[in-house]
Amino acid sequence: MPRDRVALRANSLYAPTLKEVPAEAEIASHRLMLRAGLIRKAAAGIYSFLPLGYRSVRKVEQIVREEMDTIGSQELLLPIVQPAELWHESGRWTEYGPELARLTDRAGRDFCLGPTHEEIITALVRNEVRSYRELPLSLYQMNMKFRDEIRPRFGLLRGREFIMKDAYSFHATQESLQEHYDEQAGAYGRICDRLGLIWRPVAAESGQIGGSVTTEFMALADSGEAELVYCACGWAANVDAAEAVVPRSPAVTEPRDLEKVPTPGLRTIAELAAAFDISEHDTVKTMAGKTPDGRLVFFCVPGDRELNPVKAGWAVPGVELLDEEEFAAYAIPKGSLGPVHPPEGTFVVADRSLEVEVAWVTGANEEDFHYLGAMPGRDFQVDQWTDLVVARPGDDCPECGGTLEGARGIEVSQVFQLGTKYSQAMGATFTAEDGSEKPFVMGCYGVGITRSLAAVIEQHHDEHGIVWPMSVAPLHVAVIPLSVGDDVVYPVAEQLWSTLAGRGVETVIDDRDERAGVKFADNELIGYPIQVVVGKKGVAGGIVEIKNRSTGERTEVAIDEAADVVTAIVEAALAP
Ligand code: ATP
Ligand code: MG
Repeated sequence: MPRDRVALRANSLYAPTLKEVPAEAEIASHRLMLRAGLIRKAAAGIYSFLPLGYRSVRKVEQIVREEMDTIGSQELLLPIVQPAELWHESGRWTEYGPELARLTDRAGRDFCLGPTHEEIITALVRNEVRSYRELPLSLYQMNMKFRDEIRPRFGLLRGREFIMKDAYSFHATQESLQEHYDEQAGAYGRICDRLGLIWRPVAAESGQIGGSVTTEFMALADSGEAELVYCACGWAANVDAAEAVVPRSPAVTEPRDLEKVPTPGLRTIAELAAAFDISEHDTVKTMAGKTPDGRLVFFCVPGDRELNPVKAGWAVPGVELLDEEEFAAYAIPKGSLGPVHPPEGTFVVADRSLEVEVAWVTGANEEDFHYLGAMPGRDFQVDQWTDLVVARPGDDCPECGGTLEGARGIEVSQVFQLGTKYSQAMGATFTAEDGSEKPFVMGCYGVGITRSLAAVIEQHHDEHGIVWPMSVAPLHVAVIPLSVGDDVVYPVAEQLWSTLAGRGVETVIDDRDERAGVKFADNELIGYPIQVVVGKKGVAGGIVEIKNRSTGERTEVAIDEAADVVTAIVEAALAP
């Protein structure tokens, strides 16, 4: 185990712990990183990493680095400050919005702080790589990113400045991209495992970056911002993108005649269902939108379901839901919309679960009137049947038909197939085997280094503090002499500390002249995986106590054997 000798003294260690829980910290990882003296806030979403915090950051980076090197990706370093011209070329200077932090140099030239690096790397490679013979090529960096997030919160989970490992790959063919994409996804799974995370890969929506094939790696945690649905068969997806298979269980199963009824004052689905003594599931909820050229669009979903705006956009590119004033402009009643007799020219999109031949209750497009018994095909026409709703637990699994469960997750990493989106826009081409000029087929792959670290703490803590997995603990062992002034106890502790450090076990000695209670509390809070307590009584009997932070187990071992026992525990935990 050729590792650096790390022997630190708590007395001089810059790890200022806090007894009080900082008010702004809402979740465990944020609270604990502040309290354990790992990070300090400089501004909203911007943090300094203190020595122990930065040690853990570097360990996450090293794990990621090893996994990237294993799949043949090469490390480089790209600039954080990027010229606007490249972002104009890709079109993202305008597309990206206020999250992109822009600045101007003294000569009046525009720049931005890199939130991601597709532009800069595409520009780099297009000037250097000319032939299919130089492909595939995969490059990565560990670097600071800046995104002027609208709501930075939860400490490192959603910062404005954060560390990301981002990799980009360049290929001659889709097959070659697929191969490397699979390698990256494999590496991402191993990274999550080595970080000690409980995680799931989920099908995802590609958001701002573009492209279509993408997978997110989610660390499961109640504090996570992402909502997932998953099935025992292994299928899992972010609800933003999950295909929804709505169980079809209408209460009304017999066809009946279409009937228009007055419904004064009934505006919500709940009021409607209560008035007719039916379930919300038997009503049709209709939302109005408009296409970029102003055509009215109706989106119809079962009354108990939510329209997924992402899917609405897939069905009708560029669609925007109407705001209050626009209802008046289109002369339609917000509370009584429906697919039966919509205004002339309306494009009707309906969730495919409504296609069953039952009697739906739906708005009549006339203030204070609804239809009962509306049947698709007979009473209303649909221009596009599709999947429109937000998936939720209890839905059928699209893969195996089983029942979905729900969970929350922290997106720690994501892989994308970009295709030729950037290479085409930016004129990055190579000469193919047949002599033709072709745009690179690209992929990009991001791991949130600092977010991953916070996710580890979300999953590994208790009421006393952090419970680090050995792989990313700032240090492996704390040796805690209970009486620093004692000339029998202290030398035993110091000997053990230097022996461990000499063997490459990262060890701190708590040489502070503090009460035992203070020392225990701080070491539990910081969460060193192994604590060796050296006390007067034990030493007199020739023993020290080894405490395992994660199991709480305490074992007494002979002083002479302590270094071997501790080394073995650390080695076993770090073994691949
Ligand atoms: P989110 O949806 O959470 O805003 P994203 O999908 O925009 O994230 P990507 O562009 O996929 O993020 O970036 C790759 C990785 O960088 C993410 O998986 C995440 O781990 C990390 N990351 C993104 N935004 C932040 C942030 N504001 N703070 C910390 N890490 C972040
Ligand atoms: Mg993402």
